[in-house]
Amino acid sequence: MLNFFDLANNSLPYPVTKDILILYKQVTKQYVDTPLLESINDLVPVKIKNEFDTVIGENLNLMNPMKLLLDWFKQEFMKWMDKSPICPFCNLSLNLRYAKGNSWIVRSVEYHNCPQCSFAVVFPRYGEIENIAFNRIGRCSEWSFLFGAILNSLSIQSRIVHDFLDHCWNEALIDGKWIHVDSTLDYPISINNPHYYEKNWNKKYQYVMAFSNNEITDVTKNYSFEWKTILERRKKRKNGDMSRIKDYYDKI
Ligand SMILES: [Zn+2]
Repeated sequence: MLNFFDLANNSLPYPVTKDILILYKQVTKQYVDTPLLESINDLVPVKIKNEFDTVIGENLNLMNPMKLLLDWFKQEFMKWMDKSPICPFCNLSLNLRYAKGNSWIVRSVEYHNCPQCSFAVVFPRYGEIENIAFNRIGRCSEWSFLFGAILNSLSIQSRIVHDFLDHCWNEALIDGKWIHVDSTLDYPISINNPHYYEKNWNKKYQYVMAFSNNEITDVTKNYSFEWKTILERRKKRKNGDMSRIKDYYDKI
């Protein structure tokens, strides 16, 4: 049986905790919330929606509308929230005060203040898609939560993938296969490049997991050419069995 605390105490920078499982469950529940998806769909430019309608209706290649959507999302819609922002007036690094949130709805709040002037940035980290869509700023989690909802609103089933190191992204179900999609990257790297992180970011995976509202799936093998090494890494854990995580995910 997998012990959550064994996982939490090992060397993963972002351990598998109950909180993170609850977060992904609650975020992906929103992916099947029809009224929410309708309001999210309204954010997408009509031209791009029409491209999706045509391609899906005629069973054509989705790459062109996906490119338009990824470009719009990254270049026009969303902003990236730096981990260490700089004061635009004093050119100094802002001081960070971090407040833990009380649920998946507000996960935490970052207060960035200039040490010299009154410039300040408040960055609440939301799990609710509507709040993320309203703020239009974030890091990979906000980007992937919202981009996954947008895909679902366009009738492309999607889920969230987390590497439990420092990154998350989406997968989209295209022609019956789950395809890697990362809205934070530039097209064409952003789609169907599952080995990108291992090759370019030197990722040393233990677990890469995909989350949907009814399932948690170990997708590590799809993202690595180092499967044997990953199994060795997993052996060093007290327990590498996913069954208890899956049982817990089913219950929440
Ligand atoms: Zn300043």
